[in-house]
Parts: sequence; structure tokens; C-alpha cells
Amino acid sequence: MTGIAVVTGANRGIGLETCRQLAGSDCHVILTSRDEVRGQQAADILRQEGKPVSYHQLEVTDMASVARLRTDILKEFGRVDVLVNNAGVYLDEGISVIEVPLETVQLTMDVNFYGPYHLCRAFVPLMRQQNYGRVVNVSSGAGSITEMNGRTAAYKISKVALNALTRIVADEVRGYNVKVNTMCPGWVRTEMGGPAAPRSVEEAADTIIWLATLQDDGPTGGFFRDRKPIPWSEL
Ligand code: NAP
Repeated sequence: MTGIAVVTGANRGIGLETCRQLAGSDCHVILTSRDEVRGQQAADILRQEGKPVSYHQLEVTDMASVARLRTDILKEFGRVDVLVNNAGVYLDEGISVIEVPLETVQLTMDVNFYGPYHLCRAFVPLMRQQNYGRVVNVSSGAGSITEMNGRTAAYKISKVALNALTRIVADEVRGYNVKVNTMCPGWVRTEMGGPAAPRSVEEAADTIIWLATLQDDGPTGGFFRDRKPIPWSEL
């Protein structure tokens, strides 16, 4: 069976590479982006590589946009097997929790937490109904709590919330063949990570693909990097 996979924030960076690798692993990929022109261009590149890729516009903070995506996918494909919540923003690097504008915190939560939450609400019930689904939340080691230090609060708190969402959704679908996991891609050379980052997008996407294509006896409710569990309380 060819699975239907949805990837958010996929016009560039880790999301685009995730689409490329998923489309090479027996999935038909729906590449989504908030900017239609940039997303269509990214989808064209993958199609020129011979990959099975469709395009759909998606602004993850907009529930109407999420609803349109769901309606159109159901009409065309009738199911969703994989959801990769990749879209993210990193807007308050190094800024004090006291000084960061509240609008920045709200926008970060809207994209990094409410976005994945809206998408889970749209697609997890469908996965439960079809008794198959793999959700991968692209989080960060910055979302671990125990030794969390100051600054960059919006990003860190948004990823803590995303990790909590992962645990909660995973538990609510236990008993179904629906796996919900969160992962850290490491520090990656993208627009977000910058050119000095040690990791390539290919390396970053590897664990995402592994979680997106888990066997039925694979883990759920876990936090991973490099295909290995990492502690929720890590630095
Ligand atoms: P990136 O190159 O900055 O790409 C981010 C993607 O998210 C872009 O496609 C962007 O679209 C999209 N996006 C932002 N806001 C959106 C919205 N409201 N609706 C839909 N799409 C939206 O970042 P990346 O490095 O590939 O990061 C991908 C994920 O990995 C993020 O969740 C990030 O937190 C996580 N991560 C990255 C690193 C790293 O070192 N790079 C480390 C840890 C975790 P536009 O092009 O329209 O802006």
C-alpha cells in the first residue's frame, strides 16, 4: 500500500528533505507551505526528481486552512497515514523572558504548538478510524526541562508544550495502530540553524523518516534523536 503523508512547512529546510525521503519510501507526499508560490516550486523540484508529490497550501496557525487541507485530502485520497508536524519558528534567540515582546511569544506558540495541535485534531481521529497512523512532531532538545536555563523562552516553552502534546495524544490512541512521537533533529544547516550547524538536512530527516514508517510494534509517546530515545529532561 502506498501511504499518504502530509508534511508541514515543507518548502525548504528539514521539511523539504523529509518530503524527498518520504516520497522515496512508498509514500505519496502532500508537501504543504504557507506561501503557495514557494511551495509549488519545491514540489516541482521533487516531481522533476520523479517523486510522487502533491502540493497543498497550509498556514498551520489558521484553523480554516487546516480544515481545507483535511477536506481536500479526504476528497482526493480518502486517508492520511503520516503526519509530520515540521513547520516552526525561532524568533527569540538569546532574548530575555522579561524583555521578549508578548506578540513574539504568542506567534511562536501559534506556529510551534497550536499548529501541530490543530493538525492532530484534524487527522488523528481519521488515523484512529482507519487503525493506522504515524505522527512525527519535529521538536528540539531545547524542549527538555530539568536543566533548562534562561533566555529563548518562547521557543523553549513551545517545544515543551509540543512534547507534552505528543505524550497526551499518544496515550489517547493507545490500543490503535497509531504511533505518535516527538524528535530532535540536532543542530541543522537550514535558514533556522544557520550555515555553522554541523548537521545536514539529510541527517536530520533520517529519524523523521524512521518514525514516520515505524513497524506496528514500534515505539509511541517517545522523544528521539538519531533513532534513539533521549530523556525529556535533557539539556
Ligand atoms: P526553516 O528552514 O526555518 O524552515 C521552517 C519552515 O516552517 C519553513 O518552510 C517555513 O515557511 C515554515 N513555517 C513557519 N511558519 C509557518 C506557518 N505559520 N505555517 C506554515 N509553515 C510555516 O527551519 P528548519 O531548520 O527546517 O526547521 C524545521 C523544524 O525543525 C522546526 O520545527 C524547528 O524548530 C526544528 N528544529 C530545527 C533545528 C535546526 O538546527 N535547524 C534544531 C532543532 C529543531 P516559510 O518559508 O514561509 O517561512
